[in-house]
Amino acid sequence: MTFDSASYQHCVCLARRITGPMEPTEKLYFSDSSLLEFSATVVEVTTSPRGDSIVVDRTAFYPTGGGQPHDTGQLGGATVVDVFEDDAGKIYHVVEQPDLFTPAQIVTGRIDRARRLDHLQQHSGQHVLSQAFVQICGAETRSFHLGSQTSTIDIELQSPTEELMRAAEDLANAIVFEDRPMRVHLVNEEEASRLPLRKESAVRGDIRVIEIENFDWSPCGGTHARRTGQIGLIAIRSCERAKKMTRVEFVCGVRALAEYRLANKTAVAVARLFSSERDSSPALVAHAIQESKALHKRVRELLELAMSAEASDMLAVAAAGGDFKIVQAVFDGRDLDEVRMLASKIVQREPSVALLATRNAEAARLVFARSASLTQNMGQLLAEACEALGGRGGGKPDLAQGGGPNADKVEDAIRAALNKIVSRAD
Ligand SMILES: [Zn+2]
Repeated sequence: MTFDSASYQHCVCLARRITGPMEPTEKLYFSDSSLLEFSATVVEVTTSPRGDSIVVDRTAFYPTGGGQPHDTGQLGGATVVDVFEDDAGKIYHVVEQPDLFTPAQIVTGRIDRARRLDHLQQHSGQHVLSQAFVQICGAETRSFHLGSQTSTIDIELQSPTEELMRAAEDLANAIVFEDRPMRVHLVNEEEASRLPLRKESAVRGDIRVIEIENFDWSPCGGTHARRTGQIGLIAIRSCERAKKMTRVEFVCGVRALAEYRLANKTAVAVARLFSSERDSSPALVAHAIQESKALHKRVRELLELAMSAEASDMLAVAAAGGDFKIVQAVFDGRDLDEVRMLASKIVQREPSVALLATRNAEAARLVFARSASLTQNMGQLLAEACEALGGRGGGKPDLAQGGGPNADKVEDAIRAALNKIVSRAD
């Protein structure tokens, strides 16, 4: 395969340069990811775009890089809130209390254990899962991102299926349950070329390679578990097509436990609504949705019948405007769709104009309609009526709707519209 540096820019598994005169900070996490406490000498107290920073001669703090977030913890009694590395390999510890430091001072560093374990589990889990996808379906991993809630890998897979996801997940967890050793190797380029590396190294010179016994060899600069059992459960949360690849979202270890608890809590809460067992809730929810659709349909049918009857009653007492009738009504808090349906029923039954409104404390809404055989322009009438309500509206010549905030003016607006119809009919 050819190495595409652009597509690997978010991958923590870039092998980093580990020696050389331009790299002043010794990286203790390279040789021991379980080292949580260390002593070091302050080299520099400086300011950086990210805040006041301390440089020491050696550190166990992992700096943000390749999609994996930095460690946090304490350094010389100060709180380390950010850690980053410059192009020369110098590592900066951004601290909240820079005044505690002077050059040549000996300080103790303590890494936040929970955060280190979390990152180590997600990152080591990614090695296992990436190799599992290679073995299950030949899909290479092209990028990795360790997020605050979940992590993702983008793999070269065109057609993801549930079966492939479950097969890769099964294989990855089998490797976890076998508790295989994970080893760090420092090799030169010639030695690296003889190893079955899952991907090529991005750097020249000495290369750091992570081995999962009899399973995976990858050049990588991140923090790792000592054995695969430390990763804990590897759970694929979702997958989706992304840029001709497949983005696989997953959680490992402590996150997988939290994810299980949340998913279980949600499923149990849904089941309780149905007074049923957890795992029967999908069928019950599906049934409830079907039932709801059927009920909505039946309600609509009954509403049509009720509207027809109501339209008939209103026409029976309506004023005649020559060879057609005029029906007017103002409802309090009635559903606008229902008012619109009523207007349609009225004008369909016999030649008529319907001037209807519904109002609440905040606004009034108008629906004006007329029979197809008539010629009055409802759109124009309604626009004029809405002006009186301080709002706007419009529509077609035979049906229009709108409204405005002056709900107390609604009777006046309808009366004015009615007068216009009568006068224009004369
Ligand atoms: Zn790694």
